[in-house]
Amino acid sequence: MAVLVINSGSSSIKYQLVEPEAGDVLASGLVERIGEAEGRITHSDRVGESESTEPIADHRAGLQLAFDMFSRDGAALAEFGVSAVGHRVVHGGKVFSKPTLVTDDVITEVDKLSSLAPLHNPPNLLGIEVARALLPDVPHVAVFDTAFFRTLPRAANTYAIDAKLAEEHGVQRYGFHGTSHHYVSEQVAEFLGRPLSDVNQIILHLGNGASASAVQGGVAIDTSMGLTPLEGLVMGTRSGDIDPGILLHLRRSAGMTVGDLDELLNRRSGLRGLCGVNDFRELSELVSAGDQSATLAYEVYVHRLRKYVGAYMVALGRLDVITFTAGVGENAPHVRADALADLEELGIVVDPESNQRRDKGPRIISAPDSKVTVLVVPTNEELAIARAAAALANDL
Ligand code: ADP
Repeated sequence: MAVLVINSGSSSIKYQLVEPEAGDVLASGLVERIGEAEGRITHSDRVGESESTEPIADHRAGLQLAFDMFSRDGAALAEFGVSAVGHRVVHGGKVFSKPTLVTDDVITEVDKLSSLAPLHNPPNLLGIEVARALLPDVPHVAVFDTAFFRTLPRAANTYAIDAKLAEEHGVQRYGFHGTSHHYVSEQVAEFLGRPLSDVNQIILHLGNGASASAVQGGVAIDTSMGLTPLEGLVMGTRSGDIDPGILLHLRRSAGMTVGDLDELLNRRSGLRGLCGVNDFRELSELVSAGDQSATLAYEVYVHRLRKYVGAYMVALGRLDVITFTAGVGENAPHVRADALADLEELGIVVDPESNQRRDKGPRIISAPDSKVTVLVVPTNEELAIARAAAALANDL
């Protein structure tokens, strides 16, 4: 049994063919620069890796190219026995609280939510439509980034603005990265051999995008991203929390348009805005070399992270586990150490040696006498999507 997982973005399509139980990746690839003069596809499977550059007119051509790669390099896609296709969909709004079998009605609903995620939902939908046409005989399942956070209490998902206006325009906190937070929260319980319902946890997903969540007995009660993935932690190129008055000020005093502000907050902020680089490895090198703006960027990043840890400890009341995941969380021991430094009074003690150890799987990095267990748990959104799609397909 194999599930094809598709993450269709505005100019790229990532795909993975996954055996959902063991989690083996049978093939994977990336179609990039769709619609540009020169597109690129990289594909790897049991035969090996291959790469080609050619113009890729649109998503249909891109996905067709990916499907052709399977036959060009090895067994045709059909020979893998694809039993379902899982699609990452960014915004599920108030409608979708769990993975959902794709039907024409579901497509209409996802399309309606495009106003909340104009950069994401339309290309996600394109991927669904093209894949449905190419693989019409298998179930297609939409897995929403927002779904895990449909359980947020109203006190946590409501913005204190004019209630009527907010209702009319769908303005509330939805949260993102939900597939990762959900997957990691379950991995934590499994790794510790404890029932999920007994574990109160904070999850810090630190990648290019970054978000924190508070999960009480398996139920999300707060998360740092909001109406859009801009809110919360400092990210590679996104600001995270800022005073909304800044936007008014820049609109008035710098004459910036909505488009300018969008670009500022999404692309010219976060680490890049502060020191010119958004990749954490580059940032760390600059900090080591004594670069002042990089050092400030790092300090702002860590300060924000610590604020969220503190806020979520209080929101949870009792905290059992803090988990780091995603590119930075899994690979940058200094971030983990600094984020949780000097919190002995709160029962959080990171063990320097365990924290430095490089390992692929889930691991404990807290000291034996730490009241709160601190973990590193690799996330795997593709596997989570594949499992969700397989489970729905099995139920049909
Ligand atoms: P995405 O949000 O695109 O899925 P990832 O979870 O892959 O992102 O995380 C990307 C980030 O992880 C980048 O900032 C990258 O520099 C950082 N990263 C990856 N490996 C390391 C490492 N060994 N040390 C520090 N940072 C790392």
